[in-house]
Amino acid sequence: NEFEDYYLRRELLMGIFEQGFEKPSPIQEEAIPVALAGRDILARAKNGTGKTAAFMIPALEKVDTSRNVIQCLVLVPTRELALQHAQVCKNLGKRIEGLQVMTSTGGTSLKDDIMRLYQPVHILIATPGRVLDLADKNILKLGQCKFMVMDEADKLLSNEFTPVLEQIITRHLPKTRQICLFSATFPVAVKGFRDRFQKKPYEINL
Ligand code: AMP
Repeated sequence: NEFEDYYLRRELLMGIFEQGFEKPSPIQEEAIPVALAGRDILARAKNGTGKTAAFMIPALEKVDTSRNVIQCLVLVPTRELALQHAQVCKNLGKRIEGLQVMTSTGGTSLKDDIMRLYQPVHILIATPGRVLDLADKNILKLGQCKFMVMDEADKLLSNEFTPVLEQIITRHLPKTRQICLFSATFPVAVKGFRDRFQKKPYEINL
C-alpha cells in the first residue's frame, strides 16, 4: 500500500511525505481507509506503531478549514499526550491552509481556553474533564463535531473519566458521529463503552 492509494488531498499528502513517512505502517493501512469511509473503529495498538497518524490523517482529511467550527475532537488521558498529538497534527497538516489546532487540558488556565475559543478551531485535542466543563458552560460547541477519537482508551475509561466521557458524547456531540477508539488493552470498561456508543466498529488487532 501507498499513501497515494487513499486519495488524500494534495496538501495533506505533502505534509505526510515531508514528515519522512514513505509508506503506511500496518495500523495505518488498516485504519485510514476505514476511518475515511466513516466507520467506527476499535483498535488494539501499542505506542510506536504509528497509531497517532492512523487517526490524525483521516481527521485532517475530513476537516474543512473554510468552516470555522470544531470538526474533530481527540480525547486523551494526559496533558502531555495532548501536546504531543497536537504537534503531530500540526506537522502533518502544515500545508493545509488556515488549519487551527487547539489543545485544552486540565491544569491550565480556563480563562486562556475561553479566550482561545473566540478564535477558529478545527481540531481540538483535549482531556475529558476540561472538555465537559467548557461544553457544559456552552463556551465549547461540539454540535458539528462528527469525528471523535479516543486514544489510550483503556486509561480514559479506567477511572473517574468514564461518566465524563459519556456526558460529553450524550450531551454535546451530534447524533451522527464517528468514534474511533485506540487502546493498548481491551478491559471490560472498553468493551462496555463499545457496546453502548459504537456502531458495528471495525476491529483492528495488531
Ligand atoms: P506513534 O505510534 O504514533 O507514537 O508513532 C511512532 C513513530 O513512528 C513516530 O515517531 C512517528 O513519526 C513514526 N511514524 C508514524 N507513521 C509512520 C510511517 N508511515 N512511516 C514512518 N514513520 C512513521
